Amino acid sequence: MESAATRLADIESRIAQACKIAGRKAEDVTLIAISKTHDGDAITPLLEAGQRVFGENRVQEAQGKWPQLRERFPDAELHLVGQLQSNKADDAVELFDAIHSLDRPSLVKALARAMDKAGKRVPLFVQVNIGAEDQKGGCPIGELPALLEQAREAELPLAGLMCVPPLGIEPAPFFALLDKLAADNGLEGRSMGMSGDFETAIMLGATHVRVGTALFGKRGG
Ligand SMILES: *Cc1c(COP(=O)(O)O)cnc(C)c1O
Repeated sequence: MESAATRLADIESRIAQACKIAGRKAEDVTLIAISKTHDGDAITPLLEAGQRVFGENRVQEAQGKWPQLRERFPDAELHLVGQLQSNKADDAVELFDAIHSLDRPSLVKALARAMDKAGKRVPLFVQVNIGAEDQKGGCPIGELPALLEQAREAELPLAGLMCVPPLGIEPAPFFALLDKLAADNGLEGRSMGMSGDFETAIMLGATHVRVGTALFGKRGG
């Protein structure tokens, strides 16, 4: 089996190549290693290989494994990429260095309160339901301006937009749309692109790519 270090080097060189083609600087794209479902023993080799930015999709799962990992790697950075319930806002603000799933007004309030309480400012990405899918999380495109307005009024630190395009269709138009929405709303960050499509996302302006399977192998089973 390939080592974590080999897989990481491979992904990093593919990111560099996509940046080169797009005329962008490799350091303008952050690789977030999505470590959900993988335990500390699986994550440690990537930390040892130098990867520092990780993503989890469940607050409770992250609470179970990251405090120990951070003792050994205090400079590790942890992003929440999954849905957040308002009653977990305090825990999320305490544990994470960025949250990619702000998607509704009630969460604006909960996060503002949690950040005030913790005295900590956690950069936020607003998740957009880019394919207008009924079952999917994310703010409907039509409601984005109002949500951003509320977040700005609450003085939340807005880092950018995030999306997960519909499965099974060409993702490029959705990445292009997220890029345009970010530009129209004066936001820097574009969190888009996963194992199967991060190079396309980089060509279309991704600043943060979220790669799980290509770094860790298949989840579950
Ligand atoms: C799991 C997950 C990823 C990573 O997906 P892979 O296809 O394994 O790279 C990225 N973003 C989110 C929001 C996820 O839940």
